[in-house]
Amino acid sequence: MSAAPIRFDVIIVGAGQAGVPLAARFAEAGRRVALIERAHVGGTCVNYGCTPTKTMVASARAAHMVRTAGRLGVHVGDVQVDLAAVVERKNRIVTEWRAGVERRLERAGDRLTLVRGNARFVGERLIGVNGTRYTADTIVLNVGARPATPNVPGLDRVPTLDSTGIMELRALPEHLIVLGGGYIGCEFGQMFRRFGAPVTIVHRGQHLLDREDSDVSVAIEDVFRREGIDLRLGVSASTASADQGGVRLQLTDGTAVTGSHALVAVGRVPNTGDLGCAAANIALDRRGFVTVDDAYRTSAAGVYAVGDVTGGPQFTHTSWDDHRILFDRLTRDGDGSPARTRAGRLIPYCVFTDPQVARVGLSEREAADRGIACEVASMPFGAIARASELDETAGLLKVLLDPATERVLGAAIVGIEAGELIHIFSTLMQAGASPRAIVDAQAVHPTLAEGVQSLVMRLDRFALT
Ligand SMILES: Cc1cc2nc3c(=O)[nH]c(=O)nc-3n(C[C@H](O)[C@H](O)[C@H](O)COP(=O)(O)OP(=O)(O)OC[C@H]3O[C@@H](n4cnc5c(N)ncnc54)[C@H](O)[C@@H]3O)c2cc1C
Repeated sequence: MSAAPIRFDVIIVGAGQAGVPLAARFAEAGRRVALIERAHVGGTCVNYGCTPTKTMVASARAAHMVRTAGRLGVHVGDVQVDLAAVVERKNRIVTEWRAGVERRLERAGDRLTLVRGNARFVGERLIGVNGTRYTADTIVLNVGARPATPNVPGLDRVPTLDSTGIMELRALPEHLIVLGGGYIGCEFGQMFRRFGAPVTIVHRGQHLLDREDSDVSVAIEDVFRREGIDLRLGVSASTASADQGGVRLQLTDGTAVTGSHALVAVGRVPNTGDLGCAAANIALDRRGFVTVDDAYRTSAAGVYAVGDVTGGPQFTHTSWDDHRILFDRLTRDGDGSPARTRAGRLIPYCVFTDPQVARVGLSEREAADRGIACEVASMPFGAIARASELDETAGLLKVLLDPATERVLGAAIVGIEAGELIHIFSTLMQAGASPRAIVDAQAVHPTLAEGVQSLVMRLDRFALT
């Protein structure tokens, strides 16, 4: 690497959910941009995350709907899931979306250069890729994260799957063990149960999805148990060993579980181990995430980081929002208005189990931990007329109100289309509006959204007298 480095105005490392739009928009704004990517453009979301999982969740829901159609008076024969066909469909959709990302990059024109290869810092604002060095005054890291491996003795000597590998299985496991009851473990656990495999979820927390209030977690646990998923909660794997071509996990409560396949879904670690951050004076936290301030600045001048690698909530929409905040900050010409930062943003999210689990703002537990006073209303999802007509009654709705300002502090919904319904609350919260706005409105009957209005009217101040 002795020749002079190739200079760009902006270098972006990682073609993820922030990197792609940033690269395209910087190029369209006249900057010379290099986007460095070592795998597929589109990053985790398109290739190994949201797109493939939600495509497969749709197949699993179809199997479930057909299998349980008798409750609606519709009788069908045996349900056969052709996992190879499910995976083919998933691959087709992923390929289409990836091609869309490639077209987006091409549309940005000649100022954007896509460099294929692994980027590693070799000095301050100096990056090596395949023996060539690149430099720029502005560098943005969007390198994302990958599945974590838990420290369970023996686990490295038995065959395991991660969230990417499990989506390549062409035949159903005889028994799937899922290690981890967070959102990835829950989505895959239910998906493979509905495909027809026996499933055991082992989770060290007392409840699945244990960032949520316990009533929210219990609602989803009830559904999982009814569907025949074996839940081992409050226990961890103490050792792992091979067992007849499969895996045996010894658990901390003295029991053991044996499966033909084991999915490890215990969190995600940042892709910084081989990035050479020390050579560029880019500080990492103790877990390896890049340390950034509210304006995405790292400890190295001119170097920024966005998306999952900053250690914040790891969602596609958050990474995408990072891109637009950073782009505004780096291109605005100082009209005096304050630029947005990453601080204090409202970050709604949804777990795509069935029923879905969605939340925005504070949970009841978080409000209590922070000593924040709130009025709380909750109701069963089955109290919604539309839900009972559809026979989709599992779940609940919950809202937290600030008594002083009459603003929504948070909301959680477990129910079908919870990921859509939660936007009613996030829009109210983003607008700083009182939920009185939806009390006075007419809600279309019969819809699920009508239930959100009913929920709010369970708060004393909005109740009909
Ligand atoms: C199974 C699964 C399901 C998910 N489901 C959802 C969901 O439903 N909704 C949701 O909001 N989020 C979901 N996520 C999370 C979501 O995918 C991520 O939060 C999102 O992709 C944002 O990531 P990012 O932009 O930070 O980086 P990524 O999308 O991870 O992109 C990082 C890119 O950087 C590249 N890279 C890394 N290191 C280097 C290097 N040294 N040199 C060159 N290139 C490099 C990688 O190859 C990758 O392409 C899911 C994740 C998983 C794993």
